[in-house]
Amino acid sequence: MESRRTPRALTPSTVTGTGSFKLFSVYGISIYINYTWFIVVILIAWSLTYGYFPYQVPGKHSLVYWGMGFLTSVVFFLCILAHEISHSYVSKKSGIPVPRITLFIFGGVAHISREPQDPSTEFKIAIAGPLCSGILWGIFYFLHFLTGAIYNLPLLSAFFGVLALVNGAVAIFNLVPGFPLDGGRLLRAYIWKKTGSFSRATFITSQVGKIFAIALIFLGFFQMLAGKIVGGIWLIFIGFFLEQAATSGYQQTLVKEGLTGTKVKEIMTPNPISINDSTLLNDLIEKFFFKHRFASYPVVRDGEFVGYVTLNHIKRFPREEWSKLKVSDVMNTLPPELILHPEEEAVEAFSKMVRSGYGRLPVVDKGKLTGILTRRDIMSFLKIRTDLGTHKTRIT
Ligand SMILES: [Zn+2]
Repeated sequence: MESRRTPRALTPSTVTGTGSFKLFSVYGISIYINYTWFIVVILIAWSLTYGYFPYQVPGKHSLVYWGMGFLTSVVFFLCILAHEISHSYVSKKSGIPVPRITLFIFGGVAHISREPQDPSTEFKIAIAGPLCSGILWGIFYFLHFLTGAIYNLPLLSAFFGVLALVNGAVAIFNLVPGFPLDGGRLLRAYIWKKTGSFSRATFITSQVGKIFAIALIFLGFFQMLAGKIVGGIWLIFIGFFLEQAATSGYQQTLVKEGLTGTKVKEIMTPNPISINDSTLLNDLIEKFFFKHRFASYPVVRDGEFVGYVTLNHIKRFPREEWSKLKVSDVMNTLPPELILHPEEEAVEAFSKMVRSGYGRLPVVDKGKLTGILTRRDIMSFLKIRTDLGTHKTRIT
């Protein structure tokens, strides 16, 4: 219930939160674009327009290069989307919902709502993306050959050529066997099948993922030393991103395992301090923020949960108005899917926290606020469970 934590590092979970807008829907999957994605599109269009096309097919008008640069970036975007839709399609077929796909600076993420139940499902979902990119590579390579060697259309041939190249690169890069890349998921499925332990398989493949990430960072530094500044910085960024993704992916797996079979009501903080929506801001500051020092409070009207209020909500208004404004004038509401139910699975509640970036979520039963679930509640529950040795699957 705190306002979204800002600013946060770019991780697979944060690209789903702020800074994304919906483009359209496919198969009931919402396609979102994160603002960071425009950076890469502009970079690609730029380098194609001023580098690739004039070099491959010299002597054309600059508008032709611009047109080709733009067109190629759009098709490139559709190829990345096709890769993610392939993962999502297999996931949905296997009964695991995929509410959204987000495209961002380093590519795309399909938000597969939960981990697969068995290794073979994991394998099928993971292989679908690289398979799609591999097929696209084949098609574009064939068209490149056809338009170049047979029909002698150099501009089209260059267009198909670069698309073949990027799809091939996407397939190969994703097949590197480090979690969270597709190759890491394939390896995880294999180790999971061999050892029967999902968390152990995740641990091993995240380690491989981290090694690969660190190798990319080093490679980036060497590239920069060799004068390839942009390419070097790019590799370093991707390396840091993958390193974080491997770490957080592993931690989330552990948390999810630890929470399995637990309901929200067992770990929430019951009867939280709440504020009536008719409270004046002056009173809110004196009687709540100074006294209890929580970052945010749930707001109720006749005992029913209506929203939450933080210091930032108050600071938007000048001090002179604090004696006249009520909490209901400044508070924020929460989307219904972020309001928890006491009987809800704690794993599901945790996923909602990760996806939304909220650290505190209200627990509501028949309209009445019955508790609050915070990240701290979850962590202390897991700690107690681990200390008592009742954690079902430990890393050995
Ligand atoms: Zn993939």
